[in-house]
Amino acid sequence: VASVRDVSKTFGARKALNGVSIEVAAGEMVALIGPSGSGKSTLLRSITGLQNIDSGAGVIEVFGQTVQKNGRITGQVRAARQKLGMIFQQFNLVGRLSLFSNVMLGALGRIPGWQGVLGVWPSADKRQAMEALHRVGVSEYAAQRANTLSGGQQQRGAIARALVQGAQAILADEPVASLDPVSARKVMELLVELNKRDGLGVIVTLHQVDYAIRYCDRVIALKAGQVVYDGPSTALDTKQLIDIYGPEFEDAF
Ligand code: ATP
Ligand code: MG
Repeated sequence: VASVRDVSKTFGARKALNGVSIEVAAGEMVALIGPSGSGKSTLLRSITGLQNIDSGAGVIEVFGQTVQKNGRITGQVRAARQKLGMIFQQFNLVGRLSLFSNVMLGALGRIPGWQGVLGVWPSADKRQAMEALHRVGVSEYAAQRANTLSGGQQQRGAIARALVQGAQAILADEPVASLDPVSARKVMELLVELNKRDGLGVIVTLHQVDYAIRYCDRVIALKAGQVVYDGPSTALDTKQLIDIYGPEFEDAF
């Protein structure tokens, strides 16, 4: 999915990322954990090319294409982004549009913009959108305006949009942080299913360490912009996390 090599990102005097290197292969399910301010969102934004990294040695590749080098976002970022479905804690959907229209926006990358504006969608795309909504379990809300849906329904809609887009990986920044525990579990289970059954790569930032261990195969832990753990989730336990983050780690997330 992504290759991040020696990447740093400085905001003023603060190093949000400090020499981060990670390799995420296609089809992996990876949790990114770390306390508030440790650099999780900055890392995801850098991978998606929403934010440029510091100039210098750092390189970011997405599915083999260089999206950032020498502090510059390259022309390959558009093609790379097409392969990434991005999901955030909130603001995933256009509120005044129907859920169906939101999911159709995933097809905008491959059809002329005017068709989208006029709502003249190719029927194959429409069929695919309904299938995606069905797949994630919210097809009955297709006609409903996105801002009237629950948080969990909206996150499922965002995942459906990523499927219609033809994403090969999903990058999700705290997708379950605003959800009640039941909806959160269902969204995590959906991500696991897409990973295990469809082979989509997943990189998900999580505040709940227990979710990271339960749902993800690999955990990457950040602390003050540096990778302090990168390994199988099964090998990670409370004792090790206390070693990494100190005795107050449970408050830190
Ligand atoms: P959280 O768990 O709270 O979402 P995070 O791990 O995602 O935290 P980041 O949002 O990546 O952390 O922020 C890392 C550091 O970079 C923080 O110290 C933050 O204040 C700083 N930072 C992030 N974005 C900016 C920005 N646009 N301008 C200035 N500082 C920033
Ligand atoms: Mg964040």
